[in-house]
Amino acid sequence: MKKLMLALLVVTMLLSLFPGIGLAGPSAVVPKLYLNGEQLKSEVEPQMIKGMYTVVPIRIVSESIGYEVEWNQASKLVTIHNGNDEIILQIDDSSALVNQSPVQMDVPAIVQNGVTLIPLRFVGEQLGLKVEWDQQTKSVYLTQEVQDNPAEPEEEQTEEPDKPEQTEDSGSGTSSAGGTVTSVAVDDEGAIVLAYRGEVEPDKPFKLDNPQRIVLDLPDADFAPELLDAPDKALSLPDHPYAGQVRYSLFANDPPAVRLVFDLTADAGIKLENGDGQLRIVLTDPAQSEAWEPDPDDKEPEQQPVVPDKPYTVVIDAGHGGEDPGAKGVNGNWESELNLSLSLKVKELLDQEPYITPLLSRPEDKYVTLPGRVAFAEQNGADLFVSIHGNSDPKGTATGTETYYTRDDSRAFAEAVHKELAAATGLKDRGVRKQSLHVTRETTMPAILLETGFLSNPSDVEVLFDEEAQYRMAEAIVAGIKHYLNLP
Ligand code: ZN
Repeated sequence: MKKLMLALLVVTMLLSLFPGIGLAGPSAVVPKLYLNGEQLKSEVEPQMIKGMYTVVPIRIVSESIGYEVEWNQASKLVTIHNGNDEIILQIDDSSALVNQSPVQMDVPAIVQNGVTLIPLRFVGEQLGLKVEWDQQTKSVYLTQEVQDNPAEPEEEQTEEPDKPEQTEDSGSGTSSAGGTVTSVAVDDEGAIVLAYRGEVEPDKPFKLDNPQRIVLDLPDADFAPELLDAPDKALSLPDHPYAGQVRYSLFANDPPAVRLVFDLTADAGIKLENGDGQLRIVLTDPAQSEAWEPDPDDKEPEQQPVVPDKPYTVVIDAGHGGEDPGAKGVNGNWESELNLSLSLKVKELLDQEPYITPLLSRPEDKYVTLPGRVAFAEQNGADLFVSIHGNSDPKGTATGTETYYTRDDSRAFAEAVHKELAAATGLKDRGVRKQSLHVTRETTMPAILLETGFLSNPSDVEVLFDEEAQYRMAEAIVAGIKHYLNLP
């Protein structure tokens, strides 16, 4: 549903906006391409076809949002897929197959220097990306729709430990969940019974407080379509001794995972009986419960700080700069200013730390390429890399702080800094996220990218451009770095 509405929106926008590029003449403008606020650099730039259709390199876009792209040289077919959707394109042909249904593109997919380019409008519609054109900077902004979990109210999301998203998977073109849940019901003993096809093996359950809940995840499982489309993914449990209702949702897409949340009315344990295409879940006396997933907060005992033999080198990377100003704030200021101002404050504080040598990849308002930033960190033998950014959302409603990493060896660092930063901005905690971004992917040391807040949101902007708040954020980033390095 979302995609159809999005498609209409995109069509309207393209009709009103893209003739603007055409008027400038076919050779005048090479549009810059941004995804989630990051400029995407490809060997072949986005370009205009027939003076009015923008085509963009598809591999860099789709891989950055978790799709896999396969190229068959013999048949000249490009297959783009994740666990849910599959798009097949034929080079020099304007008709595409989206989940087996034909969809017509404005112009055919083309190959230049080994890079496949396809029409921007099709990219937006089929990959669920919002498309915006900024006339002033001649930039195309693609923004991934934020996926809200339908069964989980927004405020609760950050409390529940996140599963690491895995972007590499099966490689086969079709949905590849190990199991598919076909029904959710309550039996006459008050147990929840899930029927499924294939194999379903639940993770250990865990408990959450305020309000009391039990969460049970089924990794590598999805829902049959009739369940997925059901408007209300909850079963109420009237007169149940331990729970008022159970909610269920598709918690992750790629690979898929199902999550069940029991809203408790009394402290409870959980027992699972699994086999023969059926998972039966009984809430019990807490003393009779299955083993729980250990509380992540209990895992790491406080370590004694360690004085290192030599200082750690930490690269602070102020995003964008010079001819690339990044996102525009609703107050008229640009993201590149924010990034630099905050980076300089982090540097100022780190300069006072005896065991850290901070280096700035962009100490002033000038353009540095993404590979240039990576090379700077590598050449200086950096131990850590922190890229500082501000976020943007075309609707202007999104708010909050998020932290990105790409390689698994960066996750703990991302968590250490995010925890401090999110508390310091005081904005909504949007969590730590795994995504393929150039600087966090191509570097070899633990590397993270901070999206401090949304420049498109007036109340976020008030925080982001406030000097005092910037010092608070800088202190938080320093605290996260020191905590991760276990420094005194
Ligand atoms: Zn940015």
